[in-house]
Amino acid sequence: LFDHEDDVTPVRWIRINPLKCDVQNTLDELTRIFPERVNHWNELTTDAIYHDEFVPHLFGIHPQHKITSSNLYKDGKIIIQDRASCFPAHILNPGKDDVVMDACAAPGNKTTHLAAHILPGCSTLQDTVRIHAFEKEPHRAKVLHKMTTAAGCGSSLEIHLGDFTKLAIPEKFQNVTGILIDPSCSGSGIFGRKYVDSINKAKQEELKEETELQQSPGDDLKDRLSKLSSFQFQVVKHAMSMPHAKKIVYSTCSIHAEENERVVIDLLLDKKVQQWGWQVASRSQVLPDWPRRGLVEEFEQVFRNDKLKCRLLAEGCIRALPKADGGIGFFAVCFER
Ligand code: SAM
Repeated sequence: LFDHEDDVTPVRWIRINPLKCDVQNTLDELTRIFPERVNHWNELTTDAIYHDEFVPHLFGIHPQHKITSSNLYKDGKIIIQDRASCFPAHILNPGKDDVVMDACAAPGNKTTHLAAHILPGCSTLQDTVRIHAFEKEPHRAKVLHKMTTAAGCGSSLEIHLGDFTKLAIPEKFQNVTGILIDPSCSGSGIFGRKYVDSINKAKQEELKEETELQQSPGDDLKDRLSKLSSFQFQVVKHAMSMPHAKKIVYSTCSIHAEENERVVIDLLLDKKVQQWGWQVASRSQVLPDWPRRGLVEEFEQVFRNDKLKCRLLAEGCIRALPKADGGIGFFAVCFER
């Protein structure tokens, strides 16, 4: 059914945007457009749809279907977003009483997904900021603004232009309960140009930065990964200093352990992080049915005598392989206290 060329996405993922539509009406419309329903994304034809079993209101469709010409897409009722990229907001799962931060937000795929959790039904709270989105690059902040406005986030979202570790002063964000951190990474989970062209514009923006990072001249990979992982550690550690945050989701689109499990290990070994009481959330809270978990051998290199601890830590992490798991390579973990 698929063009198995190396760099073509095997499936296109779309999620219903409840900020712009009635979910049931859009679901009915999707059923009219795609009369056939399949049980696995690798069975898709251009007339078929797959209802994702992990993320609510997320669907797989054939990449050759011209969904971008539909009114559903043009009206912002559906958003094209890779499945793994939907995991962080789904794991954080903020509710109507939460105030959240998106520490590294542009172009805003995950910000709009956070908004989809928090904002529907919050009409009485229009003047209260519920989502603080941080972005340090001015041109990317513009894209973030455009994207979140188009998705219907409104005045409940505030964009902060600048470095998260400097702007997010803990005393000023006493009411923040949850934080999503999807920082710059090597982008090693991303494949091919054709794939990038076949997904949405916002994702292309997101990937542009990562591709640039991958291509920094003169840096060998090890050196690059070491710089990235210390930056990633600093951003997450800073987020952990927010006084009333209870839950933090950290994610990358990297397949390298240096940016994933090893950042988790460095955080767990940090004295301040321990004092603040942060731990890795258990599998039961992090897509428990998703089969591909963190790399246990990475934890074993550090906590070698405690096999159970290593297994539980690895199970608290999610990994997705590029293409084999229906999209980009990805990593996510949830910290809680
Ligand atoms: N979460 C985004 C999404 O799903 O659309 C993608 C985020 S992208 C991987 C990382 C973003 O973080 C980039 O736009 C980058 O400019 C921004 N960034 C990097 N360091 C930052 C910092 N210290 N403070 C705020 N933003 C930062």
